[in-house]
Amino acid sequence: MDISPLRPDQIDEIERLGVVVRNKLDSWAWRLVGVFFWTWHRSAWTTWRWPWNEQITIWASAGTSSITMHHIDKIDHELFHCRDLRPRSGPWKIGVLNFLVPLPLVFSGRWFVERWAYLEAVRRGTKTVDSAVDKLFSFTYLYPWPPPLMRRWFKARLKDGQTQTNRGPT
Ligand SMILES: [Zn+2]
Repeated sequence: MDISPLRPDQIDEIERLGVVVRNKLDSWAWRLVGVFFWTWHRSAWTTWRWPWNEQITIWASAGTSSITMHHIDKIDHELFHCRDLRPRSGPWKIGVLNFLVPLPLVFSGRWFVERWAYLEAVRRGTKTVDSAVDKLFSFTYLYPWPPPLMRRWFKARLKDGQTQTNRGPT
C-alpha cells in the first residue's frame, strides 16, 4: 500500500526495518480468517513476522482501502510491534506472550505486548488512560488483564516517566 501520507519519520522507520504494509484482503489466509471473524477482519490491524523469515508485515484491516493521515496513530502503534518482532527471538517471544503465558485470557501476555504502545498513545494525548484500558479490555484483545491493574500500571508509568526504550519490551 502507498505509505506516502504518513509522517516522514514513520516512512523512514518502515523503510529502515524493511516493513511492508499490505491489506488483509491481499492474503487468502486472512480472507479465510475473515470468514469466521468478519468484524475483526474489517477493523483490526495485525503486525506479523514468521520466525523463519525476516519480513515484517503490517496488515491493514480489510476495511482500509488506502493509507491516509488518519492512520498515523495506528502506524505509531504497529511500529512498536515491528521493533519487538525485529530480533530473531521476537516472533517466538511475542507468539508465546500472545497466546500462552501466563494464561490465554484474564492474565495474558498480550497485556505485555500491547501496554507500551498504548502508554505512548496516552502520552501523545491520542488516548486517555480510561480509553486505553477500555480498548484493551475488549473482544479485540480478548480481555488480557484486570482493568484496575492496567489502570494502575499506566498511572505509575506516567508518574515515573519510564518508556519501553529505557526498560525493554516487557
Ligand atoms: Zn497492538
